[in-house]
Amino acid sequence: MSSNSAVLFNVAKCIGCGSCTVACKLWNDLEFGENNAHGFDAELSADSWTVVQYHSIKNNADQSVFRFTKRQCMHCLEPSCASVCFANAITVDENGAVVYSPKKCVGCRYCLIACPFDVPKYEWNKVFPSVMKCQLCADKLAEGETPSCVSVCPTGALIFGDRDELLEKAHAIIATSAATENMEATHYVNEVYGEKQAGGTRWLYISDVPFAELGLPASVPKKSIPGIVHDYTKWKPGVFLGAAAAFSAIGLYTKRRLKIEEEKASENGGENNV
Ligand code: SF4
Ligand code: SF4
Ligand code: SF4
Repeated sequence: MSSNSAVLFNVAKCIGCGSCTVACKLWNDLEFGENNAHGFDAELSADSWTVVQYHSIKNNADQSVFRFTKRQCMHCLEPSCASVCFANAITVDENGAVVYSPKKCVGCRYCLIACPFDVPKYEWNKVFPSVMKCQLCADKLAEGETPSCVSVCPTGALIFGDRDELLEKAHAIIATSAATENMEATHYVNEVYGEKQAGGTRWLYISDVPFAELGLPASVPKKSIPGIVHDYTKWKPGVFLGAAAAFSAIGLYTKRRLKIEEEKASENGGENNV
């Protein structure tokens, strides 16, 4: 198993069957919830670590075409979720998977704010909540197996392998498509989404339609995010404790003010009764 694991998602090959989402739920023991019009969860949630999103896009001939985007944790090479976690509950394992350990998590939810792809979700309705997100099937990778979603994809839209080799393959597909003069052939956008975004991610995308039309965040910087936020994050324990102290003070002040107002109202009520 490569320590440089990655998955290449070819948008042009995805038929939106949703098998990957079902495989993920079964392997990770996640609940099946309410579905969207297409029969699957539309957005990432605590119980949906991967979703297939549907996009109706106008092509050059002004015809509507469908494209499908599989979304999940991008497994950043330099994950900002891990960089802000002072409890060390999010780490990168020996295969490159960004994994979460509920035992270490203190519930501060910094990771939810830090992720540029809006991935981690919180179990708000649980008594002892955890952060939930794709683990790249780290347990399977440790056994030399491929992630569940990849293993069930019937079209080859998902390919698992070494990140450098997948990047080489992705650029070769793009170059071949650019060289063909057959207008009926698939023509790919000249970019691999994830090669540079957030300093590079382990999920890589190639597409025959612009990435912005697939809902993939266009605003994610093409450089490491922990580097950008380092100046802020080095103060994070202090900021956390400071915020906690501030909220406690506001709470005490509000309670005190309400008590005084209640006492005044009671005095006024007494006068009116005379
Ligand atoms: S996509 Fe978000 S949750 Fe996943 S590794 Fe990157 S920063 Fe962390
Ligand atoms: S890699 Fe595993 S956990 Fe992540 S989306 Fe695929 S099946 Fe789910
Ligand atoms: S299993 Fe493959 S073809 Fe089916 S929705 Fe997932 S990525 Fe697309």
